[in-house]
Amino acid sequence: MSDSILEPEEHVLSTLDADGSRRWLKPKLSKGGLLMSRRIVAYLLIAVFTVTPFLKIAGKPLILLDIPKREFTLFGFTFLPTDTVLLAMFMVGLLLTVFLLTALFGRIWCGWACPQTVYMEFVYRPIERLFEGTAGRGGKSKKAVAGWRTIAKYAVYFLISIYLANTFLAYFIGVEQLGQWVRQSPFSHPVPFLIMAFVTCAMMFDFSVFREQLCIIACPYGRFQSVLLDQNSLIVAYDENRGEPRGKARKKKAGADLPVLGDCVDCGNCVTTCPTGIDIRQGLQMECINCTQCIDACNLVMEKLGRAQNLIRYSSQAHDRGAKGGLLRPRTIIYPLLLTGIAIAFLTVLTNKKTFDAIIFREPGVPHTLADDGRVRNLLRLKLTNRVEEPRTFTITVTSPEGTSVEVSEADLSLGPREVQTFHIMVLAPRDVFVRGRADLELKVESETESRDLRYRLIGPNS
Ligand code: SF4
Ligand code: SF4
Repeated sequence: MSDSILEPEEHVLSTLDADGSRRWLKPKLSKGGLLMSRRIVAYLLIAVFTVTPFLKIAGKPLILLDIPKREFTLFGFTFLPTDTVLLAMFMVGLLLTVFLLTALFGRIWCGWACPQTVYMEFVYRPIERLFEGTAGRGGKSKKAVAGWRTIAKYAVYFLISIYLANTFLAYFIGVEQLGQWVRQSPFSHPVPFLIMAFVTCAMMFDFSVFREQLCIIACPYGRFQSVLLDQNSLIVAYDENRGEPRGKARKKKAGADLPVLGDCVDCGNCVTTCPTGIDIRQGLQMECINCTQCIDACNLVMEKLGRAQNLIRYSSQAHDRGAKGGLLRPRTIIYPLLLTGIAIAFLTVLTNKKTFDAIIFREPGVPHTLADDGRVRNLLRLKLTNRVEEPRTFTITVTSPEGTSVEVSEADLSLGPREVQTFHIMVLAPRDVFVRGRADLELKVESETESRDLRYRLIGPNS
């Protein structure tokens, strides 16, 4: 190493060499029961991700995130722009579910279900092994890889990235729109095409170059592990009591005393198989995504040696200390309680939702003016949201104060299916209803089937 480079005082990142350059990882594949189970889960999840944009509930997409219209359809329910409270409760519920699952099962999401792990370990990495790895085992190639193999690998990566980008886009625009655009020239829809091209490039960069760095340095969920886990959460751990002192088994020479060794033969297989390049024998680390490859690797070694399995296994910090871990602990009680509260609030708001929303607010500009007949004029806006699939027409009338009238600038208050529109309205109120420059207005907005009462504070002259 160059003299001008300072030696780090401690180990910094598993993917950094001492001089700060990237240590490229080519983890060896370790076959075993856990890999087989993860493979089944991964391919099921890939199928779900691919098929979901095609699925519908009651004629609506299962999931459609229509950002330009600000409408999110999730499992048959459409959140409109006026459903901020419902959407906020849904998102908080989702976050609490993640917190609860992490408290119980640790980073099971990272190792088994995160798209980064699923596509990296079960799509992109197998393709790399196919073209460049030592046959069937992965790890570094024994001889230089022919150039055509690398080109073929990136060509397949590119095709898969295009498929992923298009599937991703389908969640935002729907499969029907996507199908139309795929058949048309990109110039007829340049913005979505550029988004698709950007996502394709992002996938290529992520799965070809960035790889485990996403989990180690970029993913916020990974960063939050230290607060989301507790002593009883499920982790992948090395059984130090059984494994140490580690060492390679040596034949006993006559007269020589051999040290008593633990079960770890220091073969390093748990390290060379790790997709984030760490050594699980050093204890719980933030870089561990709980992929269980070290469990499979070590179990293969133990099997060959005829020793008991699970020197590396699912465990918890409390269990490893010999403490009794319980399922019931503060966070596994508080999270479900909060979740139940949010679910009840969500269902209450949802079931009490009317078939239209009406909000009233002030036009920018002068707060009030005087009309020719002496009444006080307030210019307001009425935002109407039609929540049903049929077109509707609304009426608006004043219920208080007496002598007040309302006029709508537009011809009528008509809305198409699930349309949101803002109308300009003018309220004319008698001058004597204003007390200290304020008067309370009560309006009724009605459709053919239901009505809504609105209140608004009018501004007028002080005397
Ligand atoms: S694979 Fe098992 S035996 Fe080999 S170094 Fe890791 S813990 Fe020790
Ligand atoms: S330490 Fe084991 S479980 Fe953790 S990332 Fe590495 S191989 Fe996967």
